[in-house]
Amino acid sequence: MNLKDYIASVENFPKEGILFRDITPLMADGKAFKYATDQIVEFAKNKDVNLVVGPEARGFIFGCPVAYELNTGFIPVRKPGKLPRETVDVKYALEYGHNELSIHKGDIKKGSRVLIVDDLLATGGTIKATIDLVESQGGIVAGVAFLIELVDLNGRDLLKNYNVLSLIKY
Ligand code: IMP
Repeated sequence: MNLKDYIASVENFPKEGILFRDITPLMADGKAFKYATDQIVEFAKNKDVNLVVGPEARGFIFGCPVAYELNTGFIPVRKPGKLPRETVDVKYALEYGHNELSIHKGDIKKGSRVLIVDDLLATGGTIKATIDLVESQGGIVAGVAFLIELVDLNGRDLLKNYNVLSLIKY
C-alpha cells in the first residue's frame, strides 16, 4: 500500500509559504489507518516496549491504537495547563519564541521501555522535548515512530542515538 496516496498536501497552511501535510484522509480510510498502525507495531515488536507516549494531538491518534496492539499503556504529552495533576515540563525553542510540553509526574516508571509516536517529524523540536520528558523520568526510549518525515528539515539530526521509523518521507 502506498501511504502517500492518503496524504493531502495543502499549500499556504497554516501560514503563507508552508506546505502542510494533512493526514486526515489516511485516518479516514480504515485500511490505510490499520496498515500504518500495523507498521509501527511491527517496528516496536522486538524492542520490549511496555509503554507508548505521544504528544498532542496527532500523536494520540496513532499512539493509542499502537499501545492497544502492544498491550501497553499510553501516556499523553500535552501543552501546558491541560493536565490536572502535578507535571514535569520542558521548554523548547521554535524559530520565533518557544513552546512547552508537559507530562504527569510519576506516570513513567523508572526503566520503562518507551515507544514515542507522533504523526510528523519536521525540525525535531517536539520529539526531542518529548524524549527529554521521558528520560527525565527514567524512561528508556526504545524507539521513535512517525507517520511522516520532512527530510529536508533534518529532524533526524536530533535523533542520532535512537531507533527511528518513518513510514512516509517527503
Ligand atoms: P517539529 O517540532 O518541527 O518536528 O514539528 C513537528 C510537529 O509539528 C508535529 O507534532 C506535527 O504534528 C506538527 N507539524 C509540523 N508540520 C506539519 C505538517 O505539515 N502536517 C502536520 N503536522 C505538522
